[in-house]
Amino acid sequence: MLRVADHFERTDTGRARRENEDSFYARSPMFAVADGMGGAQAGEVASQLAVEVLQEGLPDRGGSIEERLRDLVGEANTRINALSRTDDQRAGMGTTMTLAYVGEHEVSVAHVGDSRLYRLREGTFERLTDDHTLVEELVRQGKLTPQEADHHPQRSIITRALGPEAAVEADSHTWPARDGDVYLICSDGLTSMIPEARVGELLTSARSLPDAGRALIDAANAAGGRDNITVILFRLEDVGSVGGAAAAQDTTEHEAVSVPPEPATAAGAAAAGPATVVAEGRTASGTAAAGEPRARRRQPRPPPGGPRGEPRPPRAEAGDGRRRRRRVPTGVLLSLCLVVAIALSAWYASQTVYFVGSNDGFVRLYRVLPYDAPAGLNLYSVNYPSGVPLSELPPAQRRLVTEHKLRSHDDARDLVRQMETGALSTS
Ligand code: MN
Repeated sequence: MLRVADHFERTDTGRARRENEDSFYARSPMFAVADGMGGAQAGEVASQLAVEVLQEGLPDRGGSIEERLRDLVGEANTRINALSRTDDQRAGMGTTMTLAYVGEHEVSVAHVGDSRLYRLREGTFERLTDDHTLVEELVRQGKLTPQEADHHPQRSIITRALGPEAAVEADSHTWPARDGDVYLICSDGLTSMIPEARVGELLTSARSLPDAGRALIDAANAAGGRDNITVILFRLEDVGSVGGAAAAQDTTEHEAVSVPPEPATAAGAAAAGPATVVAEGRTASGTAAAGEPRARRRQPRPPPGGPRGEPRPPRAEAGDGRRRRRRVPTGVLLSLCLVVAIALSAWYASQTVYFVGSNDGFVRLYRVLPYDAPAGLNLYSVNYPSGVPLSELPPAQRRLVTEHKLRSHDDARDLVRQMETGALSTS
C-alpha cells in the first residue's frame, strides 16, 4: 500500500506580475494547482474558489476515483461560473485546475487547462497530462511542431478553463504508482520559463523535495519569471499491508492490472471527449446548458468559440429535427412557430454587432446588445475573453483593439483569432 511520504509546495509571484493568481491545495492524499485568469483580481478569486471546493474532500458517492475527481472539477466550475455571472467585476474569470489523488496503489488525475502533472520514476521524468492550449491543439493538428509550440508567443492561451461556461469537460486518467515515485504539479509559470528537460534535471539532482521545489522556482525566476510560479512535489513510499510484504506486492500487481475499470481513462482519447463533468441535474444553470455545450465540446475547440449567450439558430434547427418526429395535428403550428423563431433569431443575429476591445489589458471580443438597455446597464458584454495581452501586440494591431470599430461576429472573431495565433504579426 502506498502513501505520501513527503511533500513540498510553494507559490511565487514571479518577477513580472504584481499579483499572484495561482492557488494550490496540498493535503495528502489530494494535491492541486489552479492558475487563475481575468483582470482586477478575478483570476485570484477563480483559482481560490477552485481549490476551496477540495476542502470538502472526495464526493461521498459511488463511482471511481476519477469520476469523483471530475465531479469536484465540475463543482468548482459551477461555482466559479455562477459568481462570474452575478458579479460584473468577475465576468469572464477563469482558472485551470490539475487535481491529483493518491490511492492505495495508483495515482489519479483530473484536469482542465495547462497546469501539468509530471512523474519522476527511477530517473525517468515524464509528463502525464496533455495541455488544453491553442498551441497543443495546433500541434495535434500538425500545424505546429512541438518545438515551435514551445516558443509560440501565444503558448499560454488555453482552450478549456473552469468558469467561462456552465459546463466543462475535464480529462482524467489513472496510473499504477510505485514506491519512490515523485510527482510534480506545476502552473505554466514554471514550464513556460524553463524547458521540460531542465525541470527533470533539477528534480533529479536535488537532495530533497524542498531543495527541488526551491531550485525550480529559482530557475523560472532566473529565466525571467514572467508569470506566477507554483510547484507541488510529493513522493510516495510503499508501507506494505496488513498481510506482510509479500502480500503487499501481490496486491500491488493485482491492482495495477485491474486499475482501469474506468471507461474514460485513455488520455489519448481525450480529443474524443471522454468525460462528462457536471453531475446531471446539479443546478439550474448546470442542467440548462449541459446538453448543448457538452455535445459541442466533443470536438476540442480551436480558440474557444461559441461563447455563452450566442444567437441561437443552430439550436432552433436541432429542435426542428426533433419536432418533425411528432406526428400530431399541432405539428403544422409548431413548424410555423419554429419558422418565426428562426426568423427572429436571424434578425437578432443580424442586429447584433461586435467589437474588439480591452478593458483590463487583454484583448476581448464584445457583443453590443441590439436594444437600448435601461440606464446603468452596460450596452455591451464580453462575448469572449482572449487572453492575448494588449501590451504584446505591435502598435498597429493595438490600434485595431482600441478603435472599437463595430464588426460582424465572424469578422470580429477572425480578428481576435488572428491575434491569438499570431497570424497578423507579419502584416
Ligand atoms: Mn500562469
